[in-house]
Amino acid sequence: MTLVQRGSDPRLAGGRLTIDLDALAANWRDLAERSKPARCAAVVKANAYGLGVEQVVPALLAAGCDTFFVALPQEGVAARKIAPKAEIFVLNGVHEQSVATIAEAGLIPVLNSLEQIELWAGHCSSRGLNVACALGVDTGMNRLGLAVADMLAFRTRNVSEHVVSPLLVMSHLACADQPDHPLNRLQLESFQRVTEAFDDVESSLANSAGILLGGKYLFGVTRPGIALYGGAATLEGANPMRPVVTLEARIIQLREARKGETVSYGAAETLERATKIAVVAVGYADGYPRSGSSAGVPLRKVASAGQRGWIGGVTVPLLGRITMDLSMFDVTDVADDALESGWIELIGPNIPLDEAAGSAGTIGYELLTGLGPRYERRYIQAPES
Ligand SMILES: *Cc1c(COP(=O)(O)O)cnc(C)c1O
Repeated sequence: MTLVQRGSDPRLAGGRLTIDLDALAANWRDLAERSKPARCAAVVKANAYGLGVEQVVPALLAAGCDTFFVALPQEGVAARKIAPKAEIFVLNGVHEQSVATIAEAGLIPVLNSLEQIELWAGHCSSRGLNVACALGVDTGMNRLGLAVADMLAFRTRNVSEHVVSPLLVMSHLACADQPDHPLNRLQLESFQRVTEAFDDVESSLANSAGILLGGKYLFGVTRPGIALYGGAATLEGANPMRPVVTLEARIIQLREARKGETVSYGAAETLERATKIAVVAVGYADGYPRSGSSAGVPLRKVASAGQRGWIGGVTVPLLGRITMDLSMFDVTDVADDALESGWIELIGPNIPLDEAAGSAGTIGYELLTGLGPRYERRYIQAPES
């Protein structure tokens, strides 16, 4: 097992984030298998969902992935440095100020309006550059993309005028995580009208959850993100992916408190028994959301219960409000020798990402992309055989 350390000095960091690149690669291969006959790309926007594009992209390349999607041009430039030959699509399209950067880095913009098509065509043809691009069509999310009718009209015009050379037409599902939602089928039917018109162009509809819908939703290229990183793609059933991320917090003080005393800001939590408290050096400034507090935040009314940690085989509840740099856990039931390990798991094999996210009233995506820069980051990977 090779261990690469990044981020904060491991001797000093209050939290450590361990990213299992072998699990990531296994998840990609699993999704590639489920995507067949489509080919499987990888979505590495937002610094590979917060996990580090510099480590994630090489691991995916080694697994056989050669197509990547990012949101912003600078993310594409970063990915291009690591993957000189890969196809890299920029989901957020082009504007006046980004068009040159995208063209120079050989990135493929997903053009989301007729204005963007004109901008890209004008920029590239005046410089003798390839007008390769992807075209985005909105089939029901009202986020990015041309309307279906505009897309079909553009197809007719493009055949005669050859404005751009589309390599891919794509759309995005709004409700793929709810397999029975009627919008899935409506979006599928709208997108099929587009792919029938663009019959000589590759097509792509499915994100992680779309891959699990399978069948007609797969088209030619799939675009998983969250499932690669071990998150649950759908709201139903067990998560078939391997966990990739473990977050542990360093215990920096243990204290004994009496029944009836209160914990943290607002004195919102009153102890119901004599309690041993572990104070850990991770708080909301590290992306451990305050909304996961055990008491004293209005969101508590909608989220299930506050965060839980895990140490020495015991699940330990969080106490009171999460503060900027510190959080408190009830470790009364943990054996002393287990406490000596010095670290409480906040996310990982025992506290699934999606459970930690749910306890904060959010989703795995937001928890991952919010993980802050103060952690020690450890990347583990078996040596190449
Ligand atoms: C983020 C994103 C994806 C990846 O979605 P996941 O749910 O993380 O698999 C795919 N396509 C588009 C357009 C996206 O914005």
